[in-house]
Order: sequence, then structure tokens, then C-alpha cells
Amino acid sequence: MKVTFHGAAKGVTGSNHYVEAGNTRLLVDCGLFQGSSATKKRNFEELPYNPADIDFVLLTHAHIDHSGRIPLLYKKGYKGEVLCTKPTKGLCEIMLPDSAYIQEKETEYKNRKRKRSGGKSLSPLYTMDDAQTAVRHFKSVQYDNIIKLNGEVSVRFREAGHILGSAAIEIWINENNKTIKTVFSGDLGKFDTPIIRDPFFIDEADYLVIESTYGNRLHEYKSNREKAMFDIIEETLMNKGTVIIPSFAVGRTQEMIFGFNRQIDLKNRYKIIKRTPVYIDSPLAISATEVFKNNEEVFDDEAKEYIFSGDNPLDFENLIYTRTADESKEINLNNDPKIIISASGMCDAGRIKHHLKHNLWKRNCTVLFVGYQAEGTLGRRLVDGAKSVKIFKDTIKVNARIEMIDGFSGHGDKEDLDKYIEGFKTKPQKVFIVHGEEEQQIGFSKRLKNKYGLSTIIPDPGQTFELSCAECVDSTPEPNRELTKQKFKRLELLNMIKKVKDEIDDLTDIISNDTLNSMNDTEINKSIVTYSGIENEIYSLIELLENINEKN
Ligand SMILES: [Zn+2]
Repeated sequence: MKVTFHGAAKGVTGSNHYVEAGNTRLLVDCGLFQGSSATKKRNFEELPYNPADIDFVLLTHAHIDHSGRIPLLYKKGYKGEVLCTKPTKGLCEIMLPDSAYIQEKETEYKNRKRKRSGGKSLSPLYTMDDAQTAVRHFKSVQYDNIIKLNGEVSVRFREAGHILGSAAIEIWINENNKTIKTVFSGDLGKFDTPIIRDPFFIDEADYLVIESTYGNRLHEYKSNREKAMFDIIEETLMNKGTVIIPSFAVGRTQEMIFGFNRQIDLKNRYKIIKRTPVYIDSPLAISATEVFKNNEEVFDDEAKEYIFSGDNPLDFENLIYTRTADESKEINLNNDPKIIISASGMCDAGRIKHHLKHNLWKRNCTVLFVGYQAEGTLGRRLVDGAKSVKIFKDTIKVNARIEMIDGFSGHGDKEDLDKYIEGFKTKPQKVFIVHGEEEQQIGFSKRLKNKYGLSTIIPDPGQTFELSCAECVDSTPEPNRELTKQKFKRLELLNMIKKVKDEIDDLTDIISNDTLNSMNDTEINKSIVTYSGIENEIYSLIELLENINEKN
């Protein structure tokens, strides 16, 4: 069998693994590339296989960086089914049309700009129709059942503990009368995520493909994350401020709701929180909460106990869901302290941007991050300490308290990943490390080698491996190997340039906000000299690249 890593290879998003075995071709996940504009451009590249040739798509979970290009597959000719768990199907039924809506809106916006400048109009990556076609082909499978796809391939979905419906997928491939078992971990959760069951320990595999988002990091707050969060919320409310919690609509928001519910049940603590309205301001989060309610059979024991005792884990007295845009706008009409949980989790789209615009400049407000913030996002800039940010073309000064509690992440940290690895009684002969930033992957890889004696590979995008019972061989065709390397380097360069662009924005803000003239003439002159040097370097780089382009 052969595996080619087309996405989330030396990166976090765009999960897409192509498996060839005998006459069968299948994909594990087909997600969107997310983050900086250079990364997002990869969504528009030609697919590296013909979707019409694919027999099956196996989907680990509903997150868009794993599922978001499935509508594109159908648009490009895929005719088969998408196998996933029942909750994943339910979540994708709302998330993929939502993703299509965003694609259509973004394209509309770009086209308006292009029209004014006389440019050619673009078409969206896919439309609502493509998304609807896709979700009609989703077929739900039971956790823990072996499903025979054909004479060559069998699969089994196991709890991954990451979000509702998430699964690690075991794939058995029978070739030349020998069976090879490969496990694709998908995204792995923590061992104590509320509502969601713990990851299932798979005890044997010939090959393991594992995520590494927190491959070499510990969550700063573990057992005390809720206390840390409610302490911050209480302090803010006491100061008559509002708390904004940017939250992924699916998973994190429901975890937050359950967290609030549990605190409210503790009679003598955080009394002020019980009297404060908690808004869930995201239509997608509201629909996702409905999907959660329809899949209580896969909840963990604690959440099930709530249900048995007659309490709905996803509801409490001061919780207010706001679906329409008007309801959302009303939230900011008064200055009363409140708690607003809104999407997107990384603040680069959605209603959260309005709430930030209304509250970031207020000293008594808090923005509380409870999830991973990718490079290039507004959320990341805030966490990194930006003094001011641009929202809808306005520059907003950051006076609010910015806090990050990473213990809520849906991803297990290095201790959780080690625990998962220790669950393998028969160790895999090779571990492929995907879905992580480079630093995390290298640290994780070293640990797997030193602590567990495992042999590891961090695949490049587009790299192919031939896996047999005896060995694993890099079988990427030679021209492809060079090509993907070059492509990858080019993307790296684009990302670096994008970063400089953001930094120049920060510089502009610092200088234009220096209204008190705190920099003296000598300091200004020194800055001018330093900046001129940088400018000259950039000019010579532009000249060099232009010359190369002209020659070709
Ligand atoms: Zn995920």
C-alpha cells in the first residue's frame, strides 16, 4: 500500500491523506487549509489526484480543516460516500453549508473590489449546492464496528476524544495475502474533556499516522483551568466589565456551556456569574449545540449523569442564545456587564469581530482566549500583545485585559500523546508525524525516538511512502519530490513576507499612536536610519526577483 501526505504535512491545516492499495483508492480527511492568505491559496491549487478515481472518503471528524474540501471533491467529480460517525455527519450537515456560505461571501467581496479595478471575477472554491450534494453522500458508521469496504480494505472508527463524533481510524489492507494495519489518529483529545469520552486506546498497528499540535508542549492550565477562567470572569464582572470569549462554534462552545452549568450548580461560589447574562452569539454554535443534544449516547459518564438527574448539561438559567443579526447587535447597546461567547475562535471572521470592536478599548473588559490561535490571525496578534489592532478598517486600541487559558484546547498535550502511544502494546514499526508546527513535530519526534525507541518520519507535503509488512520506503516520484520541496519553500517565503507585513502594520500603529511624543529626535533619527536599511534590502530583493522573472 502507498500513503501520500497531501495536507497537514509540516503544517496544521488541510488534512488530506491519500491511500492506494491494490485497486482501492481512499482518502482520510479532505480539509481546508486555514490561516494566512498564503496558506489559504493552497485550497485553490489543482487537487493532486482525480477525485473521480477515489473509492471512499473516511472522515475522522467534522472540523473544517479535516472536512472543508469535501464539497470540492464532489464538485470535481467524486461520486462515492463519506464514511464517518453519526455525530460527525450531523455536524457536517451544518458546518459544510456554513463553510460554503463563507466561500461565496468572500468571493463576492473580492469580486466587487475586482470589478472596480477592472479585474477578472473569481468563482468560489465551492457553492452551497456543492456542500448540499456532499452532505447527502455522508454515511454514518458505528464506533467500534469493523466495516468491510471491499475484499481489500476494512476499517474501524474509535473514539478520539477530540470533539463530538471524532474518531481515530484503523485501516486493514490486505495485499498479496498479507494484512497491514495503519492507524490514522485524526485529532486526539485530552483525557478529561468535558462531555466527550476519553480517547480509546488502540493496542496495535503496523503504522501510525499521528497528530502533533501539542506534540512538545504542556497545557499550562490542566486541572485548574476552570477555576482560572472563572476567577478572571469574576474579577472582570466585579469591575463592571464585559468578558468576551472567542470560541470555536463546535466543541469549545458546548464545553464552555457545560462548564458554566457546573459552576452554577456549586451553590456558594461565583455568585456574580449566576446573575450575569451569558450570551451564545453564533448561529453555528446554536445549531451545533442541537446536534450535541441529538447525540447524547456518545457523551461521557459525567454528562450522562446530568441528563439522568434531569438537568440538561447544555442549558442553564442565565444562558441566552442569539441567532439573528439584530439580536446580536442589541447585546452591545447597553454597558451592563455580560459574558459573550462568540465565533470565530481565532477572531478572523464572524460576529466576534463586532464584540471586539465594541469592547477592546475598554479597560475594565477582558478578552479570554480558550483555544489555539494560529499564526496570522487577529486572535494571535492579541495574544502576542498587540497594542492596537485593525478591525473593519478601524484602528482599535487594546486596553482590555487579554488572557489565554490553553487548557481548554481540544487537543491532548505532550503528556496525553505519550499516554496514547503507551496504549500500543504492539508498537508501530513507523510513526508518521503530521498536523503540527515544525517545532512541535521535531520535539515530538525526538521524544518518540528517545523515550519509546520508535522510528519516526515527518513527511513533506506530497511525499509518498510504500508501506509493506517488512519496510517503509519513500516512493515519491523524483520530479514530484523536488517540485513539492520548492513549492513548500515558496509558501514558507510567502508566510515570512506576510509576517513582515503585519509587523510593519504594528510599527505604523506604534508611531502614529505616539501622540505624547515620547520618542525624542535622536530616537526618531535612529529609527529612520534602521528603517532605511531595511527598505534598501527589500528593494534589492525585489530587483533580484524581477530580474529572475524577466529572464524566464
Ligand atoms: Zn480538530
